Amino acid sequence: MRLGNKNYSQDELKDLQKQNTKVYNNFVRRNNNNNQFTSFYHSSEWKKLRKQVLLRDNYLCQECFKKGIVNDKNLIVHHKVELREDWSKRLDMNNLEVVCYACHNKIHKQKQT
Ligand SMILES: [Zn+2]
Ligand SMILES: [Zn+2]
Repeated sequence: MRLGNKNYSQDELKDLQKQNTKVYNNFVRRNNNNNQFTSFYHSSEWKKLRKQVLLRDNYLCQECFKKGIVNDKNLIVHHKVELREDWSKRLDMNNLEVVCYACHNKIHKQKQT
C-alpha cells in the first residue's frame, strides 16, 4: 500500500495502526477522566507559575480591571487557550491571566456559544 510518497509493507502498516490505536487510546483516556489535567494542577511547576502570574497581575481580576473595577477576591489563574485546546501552552505566561470566579464563568460561557 502507498501512503504519501512512501511504500509500506504489511508489517509496517500493522505497526502504524498499533501506534495510532495507542495515541487514540491515550487521547480518549485523557478526555474521559482528565487525569492529566488534574495532575498538572497539582504539580509544583504550576503552583510556582500560578504565583508568578498573580504577582504580575497584582492579585487583581484582569477582566474586572479592564472595566475599572478593582477586584482581588475569588481569584483564579485562567488559561486563555485551555489545556485541552493546546497542551503545550500550559506553562506559557502569555497564555495565563488572573480572573475572578464570576469573570471566569463568563469567559467560559462565551467560549461555548
Ligand atoms: Zn472579574
Ligand atoms: Zn479558564
